[in-house]
Amino acid sequence: MITNIKSHLLNHKVKPSLQRMAIMRYLMENKTHPTADEIYLALHPVIPTLSKTTVYNTLKLLVEHGAVLNLSVDEKNARYDGVTKDHAHFKCLTCGAILDIGVRPSEAIYVKNIGDLKITEAQLMYKGYCSNCKNQQPQ
Ligand SMILES: [Zn+2]
Ligand SMILES: [Zn+2]
Repeated sequence: MITNIKSHLLNHKVKPSLQRMAIMRYLMENKTHPTADEIYLALHPVIPTLSKTTVYNTLKLLVEHGAVLNLSVDEKNARYDGVTKDHAHFKCLTCGAILDIGVRPSEAIYVKNIGDLKITEAQLMYKGYCSNCKNQQPQ
């Protein structure tokens, strides 16, 4: 796992410092698409020297290098995703969970150019009720 994290960072031309590795590892192990604050709260007890600013700056750097995705699925908070392969998301309207689903947005929306705009990324999100919440919905 450690070597995976290190090579993932190196592949994206990010120098693998301990704090960057810790944040990348957290994102790879927690597929919950956490916010920056959630990452900070989870890692601060383990790495007391880690500041909130470092978490924000590291996430910004990782996103810029394409090592992490910044999801625009939450109106209030940016959420981060350690899975950078082409995939879509599902957001539960009851519990707010954001799940990875095996739909490839770039194939579902097979558009490379719209007018004179050059498209580099597509984010696709479905909304509904997750398996835990769907039985609580009126049919
Ligand atoms: Zn749910
Ligand atoms: Zn995801």
